[in-house]
Amino acid sequence: MGLNERPLHELIGLLEGGEASIEEVIQDLYSALEEKETSIRAYLELADQEELLAQAKANAGKPLRGLPIAVKDNISTVGFRTTCGSRFLERFRPIYDATAIARLKAAGATILGKTNMDEFAMGSSCENSAFFPTRNSHDLERVPGGSSGGSAAAVAAHEALAALGSDTGGSIRQPAALCGVVGLKPTYGLVSRYGLVAFASSLDQIGPITKDVQDAALLLSLISGWDPQDSTSLDNGNVDYTRGLGEGILGFRIGLPREYLAEGLSEEALARVEEWKAIFTELGAELREISLPHTEYAIPTYYLIASAEASANLARFDGVRYTMRANDETLEGLYSESRDRGFGPEVKRRIMLGTYALAAGYYEEWYGKAQRVRRLIKEDFDRAFQEVELIIGPTSPTPAFKLGERIADPLQMYLSDVYTVPASLAGLPAISIPGGEVEGLPFGLQLIGPHLGEGRLLRAAYAFERAFKPARPRAPGGPRARRRSRTGP
Ligand code: GLN
Repeated sequence: MGLNERPLHELIGLLEGGEASIEEVIQDLYSALEEKETSIRAYLELADQEELLAQAKANAGKPLRGLPIAVKDNISTVGFRTTCGSRFLERFRPIYDATAIARLKAAGATILGKTNMDEFAMGSSCENSAFFPTRNSHDLERVPGGSSGGSAAAVAAHEALAALGSDTGGSIRQPAALCGVVGLKPTYGLVSRYGLVAFASSLDQIGPITKDVQDAALLLSLISGWDPQDSTSLDNGNVDYTRGLGEGILGFRIGLPREYLAEGLSEEALARVEEWKAIFTELGAELREISLPHTEYAIPTYYLIASAEASANLARFDGVRYTMRANDETLEGLYSESRDRGFGPEVKRRIMLGTYALAAGYYEEWYGKAQRVRRLIKEDFDRAFQEVELIIGPTSPTPAFKLGERIADPLQMYLSDVYTVPASLAGLPAISIPGGEVEGLPFGLQLIGPHLGEGRLLRAAYAFERAFKPARPRAPGGPRARRRSRTGP
């Protein structure tokens, strides 16, 4: 097994004990990149291997020991472009690091590269990237999910050790599920948004995409915490989420919302859910059926609020700032030409939807109503968490779909988010972890926790992961094994 296939926490141990060198880790990563990147296309920009190695060596004494991390291309990173997967920002080079990046660097991380994404994080398949689609290493004809598709695909194909993504309505969890890796969306406000290019500011969160739960806990511990640069940032007292991971979940009450097992789930997917229940029961938890009655309104509510906020946030891309500039004689022409050339069709669709929802005569009817329904969705969770410690369900109704399959039908694409947007609207932490296979492809288990419940969320995810080890991800284009092996707790 190459060193690039190992999680960060193992590599830290190997580097500490002198059993591996950072040269070897970086060499193994670049060998994997050379072998697979032409078919996966997870990256928009990669670090130069020699430069990366020099930087990594300079960080040998720090906790992360120079280990490289991949970063979604909507997170500002000095030394790389930050394009957001958009023509508009094709040449944009930020002059400062996002807080999450600055914190990772302070802990001794280096940056391996910037990963592909749906333009401005709008999408669920990576096909909305203005540059090229990324492919899923489990089946190259399929999407890696989105919008953090490049980050998830890179971690799954072992072209990265770990990555950062961003999640507004599922963009960390859904690609993690479709690629068979771990993806954590923190409580809204737990990770600073400073330096994250804004899509929908009341929903956006940065979070880790990793090979296992322990790495998710490690990276979250490093990037979370109060930041004076983000007015919505929370103070969690710098919790170390890797502590207490192994304490188990004896006596936990776990809720399974009946609305999450509704239409769209295949027999095979339902069989996975039954297995999850059995494993949690074996681990000493008590499963309960619960109800989140406003779930059916989550998609329309999310697409109204996210588009409204996007239309306001994207107004700054006017052709005067941020590199894209169309030649035109009039100021209005400059604005409209630049935006017409710089934005792709999905971004334009959201800007139009959002502008409409915010228009004077319609504000109450659309945006105002969506805000009220958002509160009802949050109250559903508040009630549920009086009764249970955690909520589980599938991350996404189906495994990875084929490239091109949903791109012509935006509503079909939006439905991929049915299980991820409710926690986003409620601001709650949620994690997707590998939960076996459906149709021979990875199928994700989502766990949702209460406000700032990351500790218990990670503990439960860790217990499940140890009790249930799905078959190792297959090599790209390799045979579609249906095997699933379980090791005892
Ligand atoms: N797929 C959702 C959307 O297109 C979520 C995106 C995200 O979380 N950034 O808006």
